[in-house]
Amino acid sequence: MPRGIWYSCAGRALARAAPFMPTGIVPHSGPRPFDLERVRADFPILTRLVRGKRLVYLDTAASAQKPARVLDAVDRFYREHNANVHRGVYTLSEEATRLYEGARVRVQRFLGARDPREIVFLRGTTEALNLAAFCLSTRWKPDDEIVVSALEHHSNLVPWQLAAERTGARIRVIPLNADHSLDLDAFDRLLNERTQVVAVSHVSNALGCVAPLREISERAHAVGALVVVDGAQAAPHLPIRVAELGCDMYAFSGHKCYGPTGIGVLYGRLELMQSLPPYQGGGEMIRSVSFERSTYADPPHRFEAGTPDISGAVGLGEAIDYLESWDRDSARAYERALLEYAIERLSTVDGVRVLAGGEEPAAVLSCVLKGIHPHDAATILDQDGIAVRAGHHCAQPLMELLGVPATLRMSLGLYSGRDDVDAFVVGLRKVREWLG
Ligand code: PMP
Repeated sequence: MPRGIWYSCAGRALARAAPFMPTGIVPHSGPRPFDLERVRADFPILTRLVRGKRLVYLDTAASAQKPARVLDAVDRFYREHNANVHRGVYTLSEEATRLYEGARVRVQRFLGARDPREIVFLRGTTEALNLAAFCLSTRWKPDDEIVVSALEHHSNLVPWQLAAERTGARIRVIPLNADHSLDLDAFDRLLNERTQVVAVSHVSNALGCVAPLREISERAHAVGALVVVDGAQAAPHLPIRVAELGCDMYAFSGHKCYGPTGIGVLYGRLELMQSLPPYQGGGEMIRSVSFERSTYADPPHRFEAGTPDISGAVGLGEAIDYLESWDRDSARAYERALLEYAIERLSTVDGVRVLAGGEEPAAVLSCVLKGIHPHDAATILDQDGIAVRAGHHCAQPLMELLGVPATLRMSLGLYSGRDDVDAFVVGLRKVREWLG
């Protein structure tokens, strides 16, 4: 018997959950063709008025609204199953564990991952990318290089900067083409034997550009670098198959995928995750603890210290089931047509310049208004119940590159329609009349 206090809860966790996992997954009866009116009926918040007007919610990229079944799943969890996971041998705890681990299996299928152990539940994309930067940087040497793109959200830049400061590594930046897509020739020139990580967003939150991930992964892997993807804006809109994309890690947030806030995911290739040190210490992430030292649980529990956001995971599982209950190809085709419609309609407004988002942007459209600050425009639009985002969108270096302090951004969700875009365009005309 080894010395010290032996205490292993996380080690038992998956084993205990495993027999229950299959029943934690509620099968749905095949995807339905996309139907806007039926989607809208699923979102209770869309019936409320804002300043006496119909809510025109065009800020889904910041956070998506929630369908009733997600709200109900979270509510039901607290009313009927609430207990801590992985700990108790009693019924409630086993039910909570089954629901939590069932959500992990749903996420695994959603991302096309091979194994549920590749799915770590965290607070969101930000925490997932911090984990990635912290754990991967334990292997870096001074003068190693990390490649990011000029499009990155601060979440996929600052964690790498912090890790680079700690280790003496350097950050290198992929520049953009004229249409704001990534300049892949310049990317090639940045890659070398010192490149440890290539960290890029799948979809840019500021401009909607979709990165050619497969190509990026192939080129990065050719020099032995790992590929970490910020999927915060992609997961709600594009079908994600991590194996086909070739990435080593993929992060996304539940709240942008119609799930609750406070829950997010880091996918990591199993062999990679098994080779990484823990991110935080505490309960649930250990195999054994003595006063002198500890040994750590296997992934995913090694990276889930403390009580996780159980109801959040349950809500996220339900949100994924909801997303997948619609035929994703037809939903994507609908969103693309709506974005094209928005680009066309916006170009009819005097003094509005739409900022290109690559060849086939996804669900996000940024523009600037001649002589008008985006914050003033957004404040006026709110008078008519129109919610759009104004600011630097946590992409200050990109704004600097574009030569603008901020943009006005509309972003689409499953529930967005031409009536929303039309209201935005009418609102912009009003802004021009008042301020132009
Ligand atoms: N990356 C991108 C591209 C995003 O759009 C966001 C959210 N604005 C994040 C990262 C951070 O996500 P969260 O705040 O949910 O951690």
